[in-house]
Amino acid sequence: MTQEPEDADARRAVKPVICYPNDSLPEPDLALYARAREAARKVDEVTVAPRDAACFRVKAGQFFRISSVEGPQVGDLNLWNESDLSERFYSGKTRALHGTHLSTKARMWSSFPFVRPMATIVEDTLDWYGFDEFGGGVHDVIGTRCDPYTGNLLKGLQYHYCCHSNLTRALADETGMSLSEAEGHVHDVLNVFMCTGFTRETGQYFMKASPVRPGDHLEFFAEIDLLGALSACPGGDCSSEHSSDAAACYPLLVEVFAPDDGALGEWVSPPVNGYDRSHGR
Ligand SMILES: [Zn+2]
Repeated sequence: MTQEPEDADARRAVKPVICYPNDSLPEPDLALYARAREAARKVDEVTVAPRDAACFRVKAGQFFRISSVEGPQVGDLNLWNESDLSERFYSGKTRALHGTHLSTKARMWSSFPFVRPMATIVEDTLDWYGFDEFGGGVHDVIGTRCDPYTGNLLKGLQYHYCCHSNLTRALADETGMSLSEAEGHVHDVLNVFMCTGFTRETGQYFMKASPVRPGDHLEFFAEIDLLGALSACPGGDCSSEHSSDAAACYPLLVEVFAPDDGALGEWVSPPVNGYDRSHGR
Protein backbone atom coordinates (compact mmCIF):
# COMPACT_ATOMS: atom_id res chain seq x y z
CA MET A 1 0.00 0.00 0.00
CA THR A 2 1.17 3.54 -0.70
CA GLN A 3 2.67 5.40 2.27
CA GLU A 4 0.21 8.10 3.30
CA PRO A 5 1.32 11.74 3.01
CA GLU A 6 2.00 13.83 6.12
CA ASP A 7 -1.17 15.84 5.66
CA ALA A 8 -3.37 12.74 5.12
CA ASP A 9 -5.60 13.46 8.11
CA ALA A 10 -6.10 17.06 7.03
CA ARG A 11 -7.06 15.94 3.54
CA ARG A 12 -9.54 13.44 4.94
CA ALA A 13 -11.01 16.08 7.23
CA VAL A 14 -12.15 18.28 4.32
CA LYS A 15 -15.92 18.62 4.54
CA PRO A 16 -17.94 17.23 1.61
CA VAL A 17 -20.22 19.37 -0.52
CA ILE A 18 -23.42 18.16 -2.17
CA CYS A 19 -22.71 17.50 -5.88
CA TYR A 20 -26.11 18.59 -7.09
CA PRO A 21 -27.94 20.81 -4.61
CA ASN A 22 -31.46 20.12 -5.85
CA ASP A 23 -33.32 23.07 -4.39
CA SER A 24 -33.44 24.75 -7.82
CA LEU A 25 -35.14 21.78 -9.51
CA PRO A 26 -38.71 22.43 -10.65
CA GLU A 27 -40.91 21.45 -7.69
CA PRO A 28 -43.72 18.96 -8.17
CA ASP A 29 -47.06 20.39 -7.06
CA LEU A 30 -47.84 17.60 -4.59
CA ALA A 31 -50.94 19.36 -3.28
CA LEU A 32 -52.39 19.50 -6.79
CA TYR A 33 -51.56 15.83 -7.37
CA ALA A 34 -53.19 14.91 -4.05
CA ARG A 35 -56.38 16.77 -4.94
CA ALA A 36 -56.52 15.09 -8.35
CA ARG A 37 -55.93 11.69 -6.74
CA GLU A 38 -58.92 12.01 -4.37
CA ALA A 39 -61.58 11.36 -7.00
CA ALA A 40 -59.40 9.27 -9.32
CA ARG A 41 -60.89 5.96 -10.40
CA LYS A 42 -59.10 2.70 -11.07
CA VAL A 43 -58.73 2.06 -14.81
CA ASP A 44 -56.35 -0.88 -14.92
CA GLU A 45 -54.76 -3.54 -12.78
CA VAL A 46 -51.90 -5.97 -13.45
CA THR A 47 -50.70 -8.72 -11.15
CA VAL A 48 -47.03 -9.60 -11.47
CA ALA A 49 -46.44 -13.28 -10.79
CA PRO A 50 -43.52 -14.32 -8.57
CA ARG A 51 -40.21 -14.71 -10.48
CA ASP A 52 -41.82 -13.08 -13.49
CA ALA A 53 -42.51 -9.57 -14.81
CA ALA A 54 -45.42 -7.76 -16.44
CA CYS A 55 -45.87 -4.56 -18.42
CA PHE A 56 -48.40 -1.81 -17.81
CA ARG A 57 -49.25 1.51 -19.44
CA VAL A 58 -50.00 4.80 -17.72
CA LYS A 59 -51.01 8.03 -19.44
CA ALA A 60 -49.49 11.37 -18.42
CA GLY A 61 -51.54 12.74 -15.55
CA GLN A 62 -52.57 9.31 -14.23
CA PHE A 63 -51.28 7.55 -11.13
CA PHE A 64 -49.87 4.07 -10.65
CA ARG A 65 -49.47 2.19 -7.40
CA ILE A 66 -47.23 -0.81 -6.70
CA SER A 67 -48.46 -2.87 -3.73
CA SER A 68 -47.23 -5.79 -1.70
CA VAL A 69 -50.13 -8.24 -1.57
CA GLU A 70 -49.35 -11.65 -0.12
CA GLY A 71 -45.93 -11.44 1.48
CA PRO A 72 -42.71 -9.41 1.56
CA GLN A 73 -41.55 -9.01 -2.02
CA VAL A 74 -39.12 -6.74 -3.84
CA GLY A 75 -39.88 -5.35 -7.30
CA ASP A 76 -37.57 -4.13 -10.05
CA LEU A 77 -39.11 -1.27 -12.04
CA ASN A 78 -38.30 -0.09 -15.57
CA LEU A 79 -40.01 2.89 -17.23
CA TRP A 80 -40.00 4.04 -20.84
CA ASN A 81 -41.65 6.86 -22.76
CA GLU A 82 -44.54 4.92 -24.26
CA SER A 83 -43.99 6.38 -27.75
CA ASP A 84 -40.15 6.35 -27.79
CA LEU A 85 -38.38 3.60 -25.89
CA SER A 86 -35.04 5.39 -26.28
CA GLU A 87 -36.26 7.68 -23.50
CA ARG A 88 -36.01 5.55 -20.39
CA PHE A 89 -35.44 5.80 -16.68
CA TYR A 90 -31.94 7.01 -15.77
CA SER A 91 -31.10 5.49 -12.42
CA GLY A 92 -27.64 7.10 -12.13
CA LYS A 93 -28.84 10.67 -12.72
CA THR A 94 -31.80 10.15 -10.42
CA ARG A 95 -29.34 8.99 -7.74
CA ALA A 96 -27.14 12.05 -8.33
CA LEU A 97 -30.13 14.36 -7.93
CA HIS A 98 -32.12 12.72 -5.14
CA GLY A 99 -29.71 10.40 -3.31
CA THR A 100 -29.36 6.65 -3.05
CA HIS A 101 -32.95 5.87 -2.01
CA LEU A 102 -36.19 7.47 -3.19
CA SER A 103 -39.34 8.44 -1.32
CA THR A 104 -42.23 10.89 -1.60
CA LYS A 105 -41.50 13.94 -3.81
CA ALA A 106 -38.53 12.36 -5.58
CA ARG A 107 -38.79 12.02 -9.34
CA MET A 108 -37.66 9.34 -11.73
CA TRP A 109 -35.61 11.18 -14.40
CA SER A 110 -35.19 10.10 -17.99
CA SER A 111 -32.06 9.40 -20.02
CA PHE A 112 -30.00 11.80 -22.20
CA PRO A 113 -30.94 13.88 -24.12
CA PHE A 114 -34.43 14.04 -22.61
CA VAL A 115 -33.60 14.41 -18.90
CA ARG A 116 -37.03 15.28 -17.60
CA PRO A 117 -39.23 13.82 -14.87
CA MET A 118 -40.99 10.64 -16.01
CA ALA A 119 -42.78 10.00 -12.72
CA THR A 120 -43.03 11.59 -9.28
CA ILE A 121 -43.46 9.58 -6.08
CA VAL A 122 -46.61 10.78 -4.33
CA GLU A 123 -46.99 8.22 -1.54
CA ASP A 124 -44.62 5.83 0.23
CA THR A 125 -45.94 3.77 3.16
CA LEU A 126 -42.33 2.82 4.05
CA ASP A 127 -41.23 6.45 4.46
CA TRP A 128 -40.98 5.84 8.24
CA TYR A 129 -37.99 3.52 7.70
CA GLY A 130 -35.39 6.19 6.99
CA PHE A 131 -31.85 4.81 7.29
CA ASP A 132 -31.16 1.97 9.74
CA GLU A 133 -28.05 1.42 11.86
CA PHE A 134 -26.32 -0.36 8.94
CA GLY A 135 -26.95 2.51 6.53
CA GLY A 136 -29.74 0.58 4.81
CA GLY A 137 -32.71 2.35 3.25
CA VAL A 138 -35.68 1.39 1.07
CA HIS A 139 -36.36 1.88 -2.68
CA ASP A 140 -32.79 2.25 -3.92
CA VAL A 141 -31.36 3.51 -7.16
CA ILE A 142 -27.92 2.03 -6.45
CA GLY A 143 -28.46 -1.57 -7.50
CA THR A 144 -28.73 -2.44 -11.16
CA ARG A 145 -31.08 -5.47 -11.30
CA CYS A 146 -30.30 -9.11 -10.70
CA ASP A 147 -29.14 -10.67 -13.96
CA PRO A 148 -27.95 -14.02 -15.27
CA TYR A 149 -24.60 -12.71 -16.50
CA THR A 150 -23.34 -11.78 -13.02
CA GLY A 151 -24.60 -15.12 -11.67
CA ASN A 152 -22.67 -16.84 -14.40
CA LEU A 153 -19.48 -14.89 -13.60
CA LEU A 154 -19.66 -15.55 -9.87
CA LYS A 155 -21.06 -19.07 -9.76
CA GLY A 156 -21.20 -20.45 -13.30
CA LEU A 157 -25.03 -20.39 -13.17
CA GLN A 158 -27.54 -20.61 -16.01
CA TYR A 159 -30.53 -19.14 -14.16
CA HIS A 160 -33.38 -17.68 -16.25
CA TYR A 161 -35.68 -15.86 -13.82
CA CYS A 162 -33.52 -12.96 -12.66
CA CYS A 163 -35.22 -9.55 -12.95
CA HIS A 164 -33.18 -8.78 -16.09
CA SER A 165 -34.59 -11.82 -17.89
CA ASN A 166 -38.09 -11.32 -16.48
CA LEU A 167 -38.14 -7.72 -17.73
CA THR A 168 -36.77 -8.82 -21.11
CA ARG A 169 -39.51 -11.46 -21.58
CA ALA A 170 -42.24 -9.04 -20.44
CA LEU A 171 -41.12 -6.28 -22.84
CA ALA A 172 -40.81 -8.75 -25.72
CA ASP A 173 -44.33 -10.08 -25.06
CA GLU A 174 -45.78 -6.57 -24.75
CA THR A 175 -44.19 -5.16 -27.91
CA GLY A 176 -43.67 -8.17 -30.19
CA MET A 177 -39.89 -7.56 -30.22
CA SER A 178 -37.46 -10.45 -30.23
CA LEU A 179 -35.85 -11.27 -26.89
CA SER A 180 -32.51 -9.87 -28.03
CA GLU A 181 -34.07 -6.60 -29.19
CA ALA A 182 -36.11 -6.26 -26.00
CA GLU A 183 -33.03 -6.99 -23.87
CA GLY A 184 -31.33 -3.88 -25.24
CA HIS A 185 -34.12 -1.71 -23.83
CA VAL A 186 -33.98 -3.12 -20.30
CA HIS A 187 -32.12 -0.76 -17.99
CA ASP A 188 -31.06 -0.12 -14.41
CA VAL A 189 -34.09 -0.15 -12.15
CA LEU A 190 -35.75 1.48 -9.20
CA ASN A 191 -35.58 -1.28 -6.59
CA VAL A 192 -39.09 -0.99 -5.16
CA PHE A 193 -39.34 -2.12 -1.50
CA MET A 194 -35.73 -3.39 -1.51
CA CYS A 195 -33.61 -2.54 1.55
CA THR A 196 -30.00 -1.86 0.63
CA GLY A 197 -26.91 0.17 1.39
CA PHE A 198 -23.13 0.09 1.31
CA THR A 199 -21.04 -1.38 4.10
CA ARG A 200 -19.09 1.24 5.99
CA GLU A 201 -15.83 -0.78 6.07
CA THR A 202 -15.57 -2.05 2.50
CA GLY A 203 -18.12 0.03 0.62
CA GLN A 204 -19.78 -3.16 -0.66
CA TYR A 205 -23.37 -3.19 -1.81
CA PHE A 206 -25.54 -5.01 0.71
CA MET A 207 -29.17 -6.06 0.94
CA LYS A 208 -31.26 -7.20 3.88
CA ALA A 209 -34.80 -8.44 4.44
CA SER A 210 -37.21 -5.82 3.17
CA PRO A 211 -39.44 -4.21 5.82
CA VAL A 212 -42.37 -4.33 3.33
CA ARG A 213 -45.56 -6.09 4.39
CA PRO A 214 -48.81 -6.77 2.54
CA GLY A 215 -50.72 -3.50 2.15
CA ASP A 216 -47.59 -1.40 1.80
CA HIS A 217 -47.36 0.52 -1.44
CA LEU A 218 -45.40 3.04 -3.44
CA GLU A 219 -47.47 5.34 -5.62
CA PHE A 220 -46.41 7.51 -8.56
CA PHE A 221 -47.81 10.32 -10.68
CA ALA A 222 -47.01 9.78 -14.38
CA GLU A 223 -45.47 12.96 -15.79
CA ILE A 224 -45.38 11.59 -19.37
CA ASP A 225 -47.07 8.67 -21.15
CA LEU A 226 -45.37 5.60 -19.76
CA LEU A 227 -44.75 1.99 -20.58
CA GLY A 228 -43.67 0.30 -17.36
CA ALA A 229 -42.37 -3.16 -16.56
CA LEU A 230 -42.17 -4.60 -13.06
CA SER A 231 -40.37 -7.79 -12.05
CA ALA A 232 -41.15 -9.70 -8.84
CA CYS A 233 -37.53 -10.46 -7.95
CA PRO A 234 -36.59 -14.13 -7.45
CA GLY A 235 -34.96 -12.93 -4.22
CA GLY A 236 -38.42 -12.42 -2.64
CA ASP A 237 -37.74 -10.07 0.27
CA CYS A 238 -34.02 -10.19 -0.68
CA SER A 239 -32.95 -11.40 2.77
CA SER A 240 -30.48 -13.97 1.44
CA GLU A 241 -30.01 -14.47 -2.30
CA HIS A 242 -31.57 -13.43 -5.56
CA SER A 243 -30.48 -15.65 -8.42
CA SER A 244 -32.19 -18.94 -7.64
CA ASP A 245 -35.56 -20.49 -6.82
CA ALA A 246 -34.64 -20.80 -3.12
CA ALA A 247 -36.38 -17.71 -1.70
CA ALA A 248 -40.10 -17.41 -0.89
CA CYS A 249 -41.61 -15.16 -3.55
CA TYR A 250 -44.95 -13.38 -3.78
CA PRO A 251 -46.85 -11.47 -6.43
CA LEU A 252 -46.92 -7.69 -6.72
CA LEU A 253 -49.95 -5.65 -7.74
CA VAL A 254 -49.86 -2.64 -10.09
CA GLU A 255 -52.97 -0.46 -10.22
CA VAL A 256 -53.55 2.53 -12.50
CA PHE A 257 -55.84 5.41 -11.48
CA ALA A 258 -57.21 8.20 -13.70
CA PRO A 259 -58.26 11.55 -12.22
CA ASP A 260 -61.40 13.36 -13.36
CA ASP A 261 -61.13 15.58 -16.43
CA GLY A 262 -59.92 19.01 -15.40
CA ALA A 263 -58.74 17.82 -11.98
CA LEU A 264 -55.16 18.77 -12.86
CA GLY A 265 -56.08 22.34 -13.86
CA GLU A 266 -53.25 24.05 -15.72
CA TRP A 267 -50.81 21.16 -15.28
CA VAL A 268 -48.90 20.19 -18.42
CA SER A 269 -46.61 17.25 -19.08
CA PRO A 270 -42.98 18.43 -18.72
CA PRO A 271 -41.11 19.22 -21.98
CA VAL A 272 -37.81 17.55 -22.83
CA ASN A 273 -34.66 19.13 -21.39
CA GLY A 274 -33.81 22.66 -22.50
CA TYR A 275 -30.11 22.12 -23.31
CA ASP A 276 -29.57 23.08 -27.00
CA ARG A 277 -27.39 20.01 -27.76
CA SER A 278 -24.78 21.99 -29.74
CA HIS A 279 -22.00 20.53 -27.51
CA GLY A 280 -19.61 23.39 -28.14
CA ARG A 281 -19.77 23.27 -31.95
ZN1 LIG B 1 -34.12 -9.10 -8.91
